[in-house]
Amino acid sequence: MSWTYDPTNVFARILRGEIPNKTVMETPHTLVFHDINPQAPVHVLVIPKGAYVSLDHFSAEAPEEEIVDFHRTVAKVCAILGLSGEEGFRAIANAGMNGHQEVPHFHLHILGGRPLGRMLE
Ligand code: IMP
Repeated sequence: MSWTYDPTNVFARILRGEIPNKTVMETPHTLVFHDINPQAPVHVLVIPKGAYVSLDHFSAEAPEEEIVDFHRTVAKVCAILGLSGEEGFRAIANAGMNGHQEVPHFHLHILGGRPLGRMLE
């Protein structure tokens, strides 16, 4: 499988500092910022700084250091935002047309702060 990355996408522009964002935390490989159109009281996006189109692209091709950094950042941000306890959260990664992915730079949505209902019937 080969993936073609479009460097003009909005998250690439955020990473280049061309568009402002509300950063929650940043590491050498990962950025977390508030979604511009939040669907829950807490709605942040976790993105790798590398040029990966989707979850499967990232999982297949990112160096292990970047993958570990990404997941450790997810854990830290859940703790920072108060989502790690019993109340919990939802994490979603849309991919491609069927997944209705709008921004073609891999991102994990993390939503919480209210009951989110059943997602899969
Ligand atoms: P997708 O459908 O999984 O690709 O979700 C893209 C998400 O990016 C949506 O939830 C948008 O609200 C969000 N988004 C788009 N542009 C920006 C931005 O400039 N800053 C923060 N979030 C954005």
